Amino acid sequence: MFNKILIANRGEIALRVLRACKELGIKTVAVHSTADADAMHVRLADESVCIGPPPARDSYLNIPQLVAACEITGADAVHPGYGFLSENARFAEIVEAHGVKFIGPTAEHIRIMGDKIEAKRTAEKLGIPVVPGSNGGVSSEQDALRVAAEIGYPVLIKAAAGGGGRGMKVAKTEDDLVEAYSTARTEARNAFGDDSVYIEKYLSRPRHIEIQVMGDGKGNAIHLGERDCSLQRRHQKIWEEAGSPALNAEERDRIGGVVAKAIADLGYAGAGTIEFLYEDGEFYFIEMNTRLQVEHPVTEAITGIDLVNEQIRVASGATLSVRQEDVKFNGHAIECRINAENPATFTPSPGRITYYHPPGGLGVRVDSGVYQGYSIPPYYDSLIGKLIVHGRNRVECMMRLRRCLDEFVVDGIETTIPLFRKLVENQDIANGQYDIHWLERFLASKP
Ligand code: ADP
Repeated sequence: MFNKILIANRGEIALRVLRACKELGIKTVAVHSTADADAMHVRLADESVCIGPPPARDSYLNIPQLVAACEITGADAVHPGYGFLSENARFAEIVEAHGVKFIGPTAEHIRIMGDKIEAKRTAEKLGIPVVPGSNGGVSSEQDALRVAAEIGYPVLIKAAAGGGGRGMKVAKTEDDLVEAYSTARTEARNAFGDDSVYIEKYLSRPRHIEIQVMGDGKGNAIHLGERDCSLQRRHQKIWEEAGSPALNAEERDRIGGVVAKAIADLGYAGAGTIEFLYEDGEFYFIEMNTRLQVEHPVTEAITGIDLVNEQIRVASGATLSVRQEDVKFNGHAIECRINAENPATFTPSPGRITYYHPPGGLGVRVDSGVYQGYSIPPYYDSLIGKLIVHGRNRVECMMRLRRCLDEFVVDGIETTIPLFRKLVENQDIANGQYDIHWLERFLASKP
């Protein structure tokens, strides 16, 4: 087992990883920018290293500084969390070249799945159903028009290097497509430095359902069920559930089995998520994330499995601690992403938290790095915490969530808590009847 893990991240996820390390008896190194000197993960770590000024490119994305921090502290592994360098194959290669274990899959697997065209091709080869579209990239306007005519409008143009919901354009007609093709390429070049694009059938009312997987790189892999992440704003998730209100146990076992086999065949090591769109009873692969996800706690709640502990164990060379037949799904869990944002306009609201009272009680988990008196810096994303609620069934879970949202107090800044208070009162949400467009429609109605 590792002796000391450097956590190459900040905020709630740095704290989440730190907690898993402590429970494994592993020493921790926190890294931070000058803006994060007072952060909770820095306070609780055994050691901390300042790696640069506030902008992420100079600190949390600064590979030479992170490698130096490993060397100074003698860390023998790095956990990248999510975001920042977590899906950067070069970072994984560089730390390993310095004799430090990257807690995640191989650089090769990160690279394949990071290119969405390559990822789709690989998924298809492994027997996973994919969204109909161009087989590979589209190289010209003519090519794009030909593919779109074949699969039928509307279509979606997506950037091969896309992420975070950026680099996507819908086209309903040939004229739309000609324009969308060139704007998508320009935007992709500007945002990701790569203008490769591909085309997919635009599904009109799917749900976003993803499967959590875990492999040990030795040919063993399991799935841990699904998460429904259909409640999205600008393709960004805000509320996640395990299991999905739309799936039954047979459907879960079927798609889970297909995915677990594919991951085993790939020889994948560590945690991963296979994302699908689900419409009319069919699953369509869209992408794979080769890291821990923000919404992983809902899976932990219904399976009782600590995913970060398992990631660390697998990276240290152990085989998976659970077999598929040991994975039992228990009850229902919902996560709300608490952002420091105006709940109607979503404008960021950094600043000092003057009063903080998180909810508690049975079945309640709050993952957050904030505390009373903490100042949220303006430089990073606005996620300040996650409220995760577990109940014996969805009805109990919703009642508990309503109770927790009533208890939650964060003063001094604006948060998205009032939006969630509206969502728990909504009949469609109560019925579990929503698709990926539901939230945008709800917000447009100015609730
Ligand atoms: P990113 O990597 O930027 O998050 P994804 O490929 O995961 O991009 O897609 C993000 C979201 O965009 C999905 O959850 C879904 O809401 C929407 N989306 C993606 N592909 C399609 C599609 N073919 N049809 C309809 N919506 C889509």
